[in-house]
Amino acid sequence: MSRPKRQRMIDKPPLYAGFKPIGITGSELTTLEMSLDEYEAMRLADFQGLSQEDAAGEMEISRPTFSRLIEEARNKCARFFIEGRKLVIKGGPVHFRENLIRCHDCGRLFTLGLDDEIMTCPSCESENLIDLAGGFGHGQCCRDENA
Ligand SMILES: [Zn+2]
Ligand SMILES: [Zn+2]
Repeated sequence: MSRPKRQRMIDKPPLYAGFKPIGITGSELTTLEMSLDEYEAMRLADFQGLSQEDAAGEMEISRPTFSRLIEEARNKCARFFIEGRKLVIKGGPVHFRENLIRCHDCGRLFTLGLDDEIMTCPSCESENLIDLAGGFGHGQCCRDENA
């Protein structure tokens, strides 16, 4: 078996797994997929305003790799706005450093270490919790990568 490629590290799962334009039903839309590493590149460079150098360091990847990711992410964003696509965030060679949990009942969002487990919401004690990393198909794999 070949050695798996080094994964790109992402701070936390995105809050939303997808977006769509208003005024059109989902079935009429063409889906555009943005990978989690493209999403993270855009978050670091365009939302947090980091230099490409620093952002590449955050993700533990090379500067040229980062440049390709951010270019792709910006292109997809432009197509999303201009062509009116359904944008879905998924996939990519990534793992998360921390998890986010959302309470389905009170809406509170909290950050959790990947090794921490909570059973009830600290605000309202609901057991109806949404595991955002789990929603993107992550969990144990991130724990192993961070170990
Ligand atoms: Zn709650
Ligand atoms: Zn993972």
